[in-house]
Amino acid sequence: MKFPSMAEADGRTLGDEEVAAAERVIRSGMLNSVWGTEARALEREIARVYGSRHAITCSSGTAALHLSVVAAAPDPGDEVITTPITDFGTVAPILAQNAVPVFADVDPFDGNLDPDAVAALIGPRTKAIMAVHLFGAPARVGELRALADEHGLTLIEDCAQAWLTELPGGGLAGTAGQVGCLSLQQWKHITCGDGGVAITDDDELARRMRLFSDKGWDRAAGRSHAAFGVNYRMTELQAAVARAQFAKLPGVLAARRRTAGQLLDALKGVPGVCLPRPDGHAWWLFPIVCPDGDAPELATHLAAAGIPARAGYLAEPLNRAPVWEAAIYGSSRYPLEGYRPNPCPRAELMVDRTLLVIDWNENYTPEHVELIAQEITKFRARP
Ligand SMILES: *Cc1c(COP(=O)(O)O)cnc(C)c1O
Repeated sequence: MKFPSMAEADGRTLGDEEVAAAERVIRSGMLNSVWGTEARALEREIARVYGSRHAITCSSGTAALHLSVVAAAPDPGDEVITTPITDFGTVAPILAQNAVPVFADVDPFDGNLDPDAVAALIGPRTKAIMAVHLFGAPARVGELRALADEHGLTLIEDCAQAWLTELPGGGLAGTAGQVGCLSLQQWKHITCGDGGVAITDDDELARRMRLFSDKGWDRAAGRSHAAFGVNYRMTELQAAVARAQFAKLPGVLAARRRTAGQLLDALKGVPGVCLPRPDGHAWWLFPIVCPDGDAPELATHLAAAGIPARAGYLAEPLNRAPVWEAAIYGSSRYPLEGYRPNPCPRAELMVDRTLLVIDWNENYTPEHVELIAQEITKFRARP
């Protein structure tokens, strides 16, 4: 059975609407968002759905996260607490701002930051907390925001895998922290190839992020540069396609939630699999925890049955990545001289032994779900 893939047209929602959007921009003659209308319109549309005062489009999710770290304004050598189970795009912006990533351990069932582990690492140089809503499951950002407020820190939410994830108290993931970051990369819920958005209610943080994304150029002030910045601007082509995709997002979420619910039902009571909590989940992937530590064997079994599943998600948790042994700038390791990332035993066990992820997609049918359930049950029933 062919599984729709986010790398192919059958697993994407790209259609006539996106073709029309791209054509509209090309025929207009204006492909740059400084003078165009599409990126500004996308910002209004996203801000409205998220109930945020500001949405700032940029060239990637990593760029959006970089803007958020710029907004948090660490001094060189300040620390940012984050999770070891995430895309490197969460961590690269910390290094880019000459800050130090401090890895906190995670909940062994959903892989999201454990607020107690974060609290234990807050020190005099801590400037921000970057939480990730891993695979679309809501991280405990209410508790993290309380911690951040108590210690005067900025809470950043990485929602690259969590479009329309719902938080327990109501509200969308991305609105509990001072800044929320979204990605429009090829493998996310919706895509324009690459693209990012940072949302915030804070006028000053929004101003810093806009300036940094446009070479520190306050366009209202003439050709004058108010701050250090780079060019992270989204193009009009990206924005127009993203607007068409954003209109389809509720349908994408509804379909993913429907089939994920079917798999949860089908796997209820199967031994040796801990199922994700469905509350608020956006189902970027469908994660399963195998407490007996045989996720790699289960992944091999599923892959042999043609099911797109992998163990661990990462080759190693980011606190074990080779990058921490390497130079960062030229031959310099500044500000990481003598740096040793914290051990995170729960994250390490997940990545090595217990975590299985199954690719998820809005175009899965009950037959896809049935095959996945069948093969997991078969693997568990083997002698
Ligand atoms: C994809 C992703 C990013 C980076 O986004 P890009 O758009 O690829 O730069 C960051 N964090 C997480 C959790 C992601 O999944």
